[in-house]
Amino acid sequence: MYLSKTPSYRKEYRRKYHSKHREENNRAVRKRVAKLKNLKICVRCGQVPARTDCLMCQVCTDRTAERQRLLRLEEKAIVLAHYGDKCACCGETEPIFLTIDHLDIAGNQHRKQDPSAMDIAKWLIRNNFPNGFQVLCYNCNLGRHRNGGVCPHQQRKESIKCV
Ligand SMILES: [Zn+2]
Ligand SMILES: [Zn+2]
Ligand SMILES: [Zn+2]
Repeated sequence: MYLSKTPSYRKEYRRKYHSKHREENNRAVRKRVAKLKNLKICVRCGQVPARTDCLMCQVCTDRTAERQRLLRLEEKAIVLAHYGDKCACCGETEPIFLTIDHLDIAGNQHRKQDPSAMDIAKWLIRNNFPNGFQVLCYNCNLGRHRNGGVCPHQQRKESIKCV
């Protein structure tokens, strides 16, 4: 088989091609966006007037929002599949209630200072699922942070044990 026909060669070629042309493409996109912005035309579809408060038309705004919503759900599902799909404290399994909690509360503050970690699911995927995180529901997450690092559920269990 010719080297140029192997999938890995083609993949590598595509990668090189894209990185070589990325700058040019970006420049072309920026130019197109600036032009449409000036004309007050939707920068996404380039077909219809943009909303007065937005660079896109209503249809494109809705479409983008929906795509972002689906992407966020997908990222959350990937992260939950990795860290466990139920609350580590009370066992809640409804994904809408579940959040990712930094085991170390000081680390949590640090993470808040890093703007790239604002979207925690994206950040965890990009950083290859580091240790030190757990799945908690909103209640237990809030309970833990308001209660100095221990969810009141756990305290209740402890006090029952002590009696
Ligand atoms: Zn549009
Ligand atoms: Zn919980
Ligand atoms: Zn709890």
